[in-house]
Amino acid sequence: MAIQLMPDSLANKIAAGEVVERPASVVKELVENSIDANSSFIKIEVSEAGLEKIKITDNGDGMSETDCERSILRHATSKITSENDLFHVRTLGFRGEALASVAAVSRLTIKSSTGDEAGTLLELEGGKLINKAKSDARQGTEILVENLFYNTPARLKYMKTIHTELGHISDVINRMALSHPNIRFEVYHNEKQLFRSPGRGDLLQIIAQVYGINVAKKMVPVEHTTLDFSIKGYIAKPEVTRASRNYISTIVNGRYIRSVPLSKAIAKGYHTLLPIGRNPLVVLTIDMDPILVDVNVHPAKLEVRFSKEKELFEAIEATIREAFRKETLIPEASQPKPNRPQSVQNSFDFYEPAPRPVVKENPNHLFEPPRPNPAYEQLVRTAEETADISMEERLKESAGLDDPNQYENEDENTKDWDEAVTVIEEEEKEEKDRLPVMYPIGQHHGTYILAQNENGLYIIDQHAAQERIKYEFFKEKIGEVPNEVQELLMPLTFDFSRQEALLIEQYQDEFRKIGLFFEPFGEQSYAIRSHPQWFPKGFEEEVIQEIVEQVIAEEKVNIKKIREEAAILMSCKRSIKANHYLNHDDMFRLLEDLRKSTDPFTCPHGRPIIAHFSAYDMEKMFKRVM
Ligand code: ADP
Ligand code: MG
Repeated sequence: MAIQLMPDSLANKIAAGEVVERPASVVKELVENSIDANSSFIKIEVSEAGLEKIKITDNGDGMSETDCERSILRHATSKITSENDLFHVRTLGFRGEALASVAAVSRLTIKSSTGDEAGTLLELEGGKLINKAKSDARQGTEILVENLFYNTPARLKYMKTIHTELGHISDVINRMALSHPNIRFEVYHNEKQLFRSPGRGDLLQIIAQVYGINVAKKMVPVEHTTLDFSIKGYIAKPEVTRASRNYISTIVNGRYIRSVPLSKAIAKGYHTLLPIGRNPLVVLTIDMDPILVDVNVHPAKLEVRFSKEKELFEAIEATIREAFRKETLIPEASQPKPNRPQSVQNSFDFYEPAPRPVVKENPNHLFEPPRPNPAYEQLVRTAEETADISMEERLKESAGLDDPNQYENEDENTKDWDEAVTVIEEEEKEEKDRLPVMYPIGQHHGTYILAQNENGLYIIDQHAAQERIKYEFFKEKIGEVPNEVQELLMPLTFDFSRQEALLIEQYQDEFRKIGLFFEPFGEQSYAIRSHPQWFPKGFEEEVIQEIVEQVIAEEKVNIKKIREEAAILMSCKRSIKANHYLNHDDMFRLLEDLRKSTDPFTCPHGRPIIAHFSAYDMEKMFKRVM
């Protein structure tokens, strides 16, 4: 076949595949352009998670008529002019690809003015200019993207539910807000406000908005400057941990980036303060000479390469270590905090809190479905009402991927799986029941139980042993349909980020199955008025948080995993610690419970519980035998 040059339209469509993966990537590119244009206010309006409409309005520098026309050409950029500039990039964009790519796969309207003269309006369809006119002279730019992916059905097919896509957009916004606290953002979905940041440059305030006020209250400020780097931000006290690494935000020269080694350096800074397998919540802003960082290694510029990597990581580790050296790290006693005082929230000077609905006392509330969240209901209703046929089609198309019954089926699967596991475990239990009766001799250092029987001497880590016992107890309990619930005199309230709140709504049914009813209580807050009886006293809040976090990290309800991790958490929390005196009966009971457990040899974290010296081992040790 003869080689031919691609027509621009085709090249742009192909390039779009790289830059414009989903609605959230369009939002990212357009907002980055607004930031690069020195905007101090950026408004983002989205319909149908961006598939119907994305409109970004800024008050930035704006474009002249010629620039407007050039902006949609591929490799057209005002940000770099030479190869040398590539090493000194201070802007978020520089490839000159985004607008051309977005234009290629949508209907695009650009309205822009530098404020000096009448503005320019351009309308394009599939990358082709179909209309050009003058517009008003308000300084700034307005970009409207409609019918995204209308001409790339394959791409459209990969779109997931409105919830999922909206979640991704929300992610992008969170990152933008965290990396630019001095810019005022307003975000609307189907005309309902989803996010608003004041643009006062207060990072802690943005952290509170993104992660919730309770997290913000546990953040420690850090600041450290070396010859090459300036590191600043907030790190959560070690008591705030997350299962996923996604809660480590690193911002390099104003660009939100993802870097595994950087995240690792941060985790290393925490040293042994974090439990194994848990990650911290961190927002770090790192500034350096652009020459020290190569941003041209990833199409969405999410990854970068550092030239003084070792020095940077060391500086970061030192920053975090130093911060904790100054802080006292004794976690607050975990008291149930029934009513999070409103006054604390006010003292943060956030936007007026959404009015709290008056909650009627209703003795039957347990058996009623939770009250719907009007705001959310509205969000979904509008989505449904405004859907044109093509939108419905699109949603139906995507239904193949997001089968509404998917979770039910999954549940079935989980059930089968769990049954299978139980059978295996039972068989194994018989096997392992061979751990014989052990008679306690005493306790060593308040930490280890010494025990014996005809087979020799046993040393048992009392904490690990109890962890194992509790773990198996809780693992069995979680996922059972809760027959008995504990009603709370004072409801527990939870503040979530917007994205988390969306997911809570999405998974209400699933939560209900495990006995948790999240009752809307303001826009991002929920009340829990009862929970399954078996929740360990004093840790209810943590357990619920853990369950929510897992559902959010997994973006589905994986009962098996919830059981597993919540059980580990609870077993650890409830277990007797080292340096705890046990009397003879306590020890005997503990050893008996351990003996009955499915796996008495390792704790849920995989550490050994028991060491055994057989009679022969002892004799060998003392050279009674050779
Ligand atoms: P890049 O950002 O890599 O330069 P884009 O395709 O995203 O490429 O944008 C092309 C050019 O259009 C930019 O370099 C900039 O000059 C101009 N531009 C795009 N969006 C805006 C905006 N919101 N305000 C001002 N200028 C803009
Ligand atoms: Mg750009």
